[in-house]
Amino acid sequence: MQFIDLHTHSQASDGTDSPGQLVRNAQIQGLAAVAVTDHDTVSGLDEAEAAARDLGLEFVRGCELSTSTELGEMHVLGLWLPRDLAPLQDRLQYLRRKRSERNVRIVEKLQGLGVEIELDEVLHEARGESVGRPHIAAVLVRKGYVKDVSEAFKEYLGYYGRAYLPKEVLQPEEAVEVLSSLGATVCLAHPMLQKLPEGWLEAFIERLLPCGLTAIEAYHSEHSEAASRRCLELARHYGLGVSGGSDYHGTNKPRIRLGKGYGSLRVPYSVLEELREMRARRGPPC
Ligand code: AMP
Ligand code: ZN
Ligand code: FE
Ligand code: FE
Repeated sequence: MQFIDLHTHSQASDGTDSPGQLVRNAQIQGLAAVAVTDHDTVSGLDEAEAAARDLGLEFVRGCELSTSTELGEMHVLGLWLPRDLAPLQDRLQYLRRKRSERNVRIVEKLQGLGVEIELDEVLHEARGESVGRPHIAAVLVRKGYVKDVSEAFKEYLGYYGRAYLPKEVLQPEEAVEVLSSLGATVCLAHPMLQKLPEGWLEAFIERLLPCGLTAIEAYHSEHSEAASRRCLELARHYGLGVSGGSDYHGTNKPRIRLGKGYGSLRVPYSVLEELREMRARRGPPC
């Protein structure tokens, strides 16, 4: 049986593998296909795709966009992105600009708390153009303010942390529409990460179906078996495709392994085949 991973992060955003290393890692793990889905950037895709071509590994061009809801962020994955991304690039630039503004303010907040940190150190930590809290966390770890990334979020950067600031993101409709207009498979990412009120997810999906939502990520490192089952039921009910991936971040999330999550995740190749068949049935974007 062959396995795949359709949700990963490289150095282009907040993962620690270069795009090429990530793809080589996928081959070492024995995966048949991998997608790179960096936050708010597509700058790692060409390198990853070239590496995949050299290795004979199937590659899916992707990205992950954050959207805001009354319950906090919900994430959307675009899979099978085309090469020409004109309408998306503008949105990605907006998101990265908002990230930069927020990074400046978080660093100022940290300085106000007596932490000796400079924006340059954060930017140096980031290898790519999409910079965020994991890079700030890495600086805090390196300088000994916290013992690990997890403590950095708990103490400073997470929702209850002392230097937390929300990030300006897209409206869910906007994110789904822009990805859909490019002909991407638009997938609701890890919907079961947080506890949601009864009926909320159904309403959210119904809100996004007319915008072009086409799939739901049922298999994910943080999804229990029950959570995956629930996603499969929702997919069947709404006629959505099913996706799956680890949300690999390299050593920024050291316990999550490419293709394997915390150890028991396995996304069969048939998941990709079914998504591909669904794409063929839908035809090109109108
Ligand atoms: P940002 O995009 O700057 O808001 O940062 C979000 C990133 O931080 C995502 O990749 C999250 O997975 C990561 N993150 C959020 N909370 C934690 C945590 N407690 N420990 C490690 N990484 C986290
Ligand atoms: Zn991330
Ligand atoms: Fe996510
Ligand atoms: Fe992710």
